[in-house]
Amino acid sequence: MTSGSAARSAVEQRGTRRAAALVRAVEDGLLGPRSPVVGLLDVDGVLAAVDALNEAFRGPAAVRHTFAAKACGLVPVLRLLAEAGMGCEVASPGELEQALAAGFTYDRLVFDSPAKTVEELEFALAHGIAINLDNFQEMARVDRLLAGRPAAGPIGLRVNPQVGAGAIDAMSTATATSKFGVALRDPGAVDEVVDAFARRPWLNRLHAHVGSQGCPLPLIAEGIRAAYELAERINAQLGRAQITGLDIGGGLPVNFAGEDDRPTYADYVTELRGAVPGLFDGRYTLITEFGRSLLAKSGTVATVVEYTKSAGGRQIAVTHAGAQVATRTVFMPGAWPLRVGVFDAAGRPKQGPTEITDIAGPCCFAGDLTATGRELPAVEPGDVVALHDTGAYYFSSHFSYNSLPRPAVYGYRTGADGRVHFALVREAQSVREVVEESGLAQAGALVALRAD
Ligand SMILES: *Cc1c(COP(=O)(O)O)cnc(C)c1O
Repeated sequence: MTSGSAARSAVEQRGTRRAAALVRAVEDGLLGPRSPVVGLLDVDGVLAAVDALNEAFRGPAAVRHTFAAKACGLVPVLRLLAEAGMGCEVASPGELEQALAAGFTYDRLVFDSPAKTVEELEFALAHGIAINLDNFQEMARVDRLLAGRPAAGPIGLRVNPQVGAGAIDAMSTATATSKFGVALRDPGAVDEVVDAFARRPWLNRLHAHVGSQGCPLPLIAEGIRAAYELAERINAQLGRAQITGLDIGGGLPVNFAGEDDRPTYADYVTELRGAVPGLFDGRYTLITEFGRSLLAKSGTVATVVEYTKSAGGRQIAVTHAGAQVATRTVFMPGAWPLRVGVFDAAGRPKQGPTEITDIAGPCCFAGDLTATGRELPAVEPGDVVALHDTGAYYFSSHFSYNSLPRPAVYGYRTGADGRVHFALVREAQSVREVVEESGLAQAGALVALRAD
């Protein structure tokens, strides 16, 4: 098989697995009137993405691939990735604990955050967790914490190559005024960075994450080239190979418009090899931090249609998946469109005449729409709607608007018996838990304060 047809058949198989999982989820009652929204994750799809990543970067350079925990901080998902040999990039105490609970050892973690506290830095330094520092104040803080001792783990500096924005401003971290890293094109910045490395032998990595969804590959490559060239300059100027690792971040865009993986990790590496040939020659350990591209296409939000109606000549299907699970899509529909599938009450693809339809969620604001003006098979109450490519930053990044509970998440695999098997990844949040999280234990606090 040519690699093109192999890729096509892998994509087809992913579609086949998803279709089977939807039918089975309805059959098993994981999705239905009592649980009208659920997240589903294709375990083989996730592992295939990890394989594709490893394959693309195979070469003389040592590579540590980490998964960006914010893309899906669910512990069983992180455990799966740890078992598959990945590391984990964390950027908050919660993500750090999730990663440790999943079984990542300290040496497989990378700690990035623009707002690390002293306590967080102390923890990372004490355990030799790789850290990427964000700015000069943070470097000075680490100077004080190390107090002359050598660092136990790698410590890098995040740089902002200021190469500009991609298609989505909020996802573009390498703009002129981005809050991330040291802005390299600002007057005097490069000299200041070189000087900072000269004075700190423990500073041994550079980090550049140019952006996430919406950044074209040449833009990402340009940013990484700037980091690489800076590393070359620092090592040359210091007369020693002090910088031993380049963390090139994540940000491979995902194709939300169709079924296939485009661009692929192989496309990305081809772009990088063209723009920064020296990156791969083995002098630097490469660290990657992909999130969305590893999981998005293996995840589905499936929801039951509660009602259908028409308003102003527009068909509307009211479902249970809205801003609580598809926050970005609902608030920035132009930037984050999702593919939508319509299935009957048994989870089988719906056929028949189409109508121009809006897919609405349950939240009480008018913009709570996950798709608008789509030509879809006529939707009826009880049908199932699937929001495709939602394995990253969707069901795992819940928004608790209207006190809607977090939905259950299940992983699926087709067993040797040809049947779909599910594993619970996260239980649905109960209404009781929602109330407990809402200050239930302090129910009388404000009334008492007034009575004083
Ligand atoms: C969000 C983020 C990533 C992951 O980005 P994706 O687009 O999900 O691949 C990697 N590194 C850093 C520093 C990030 O903030």
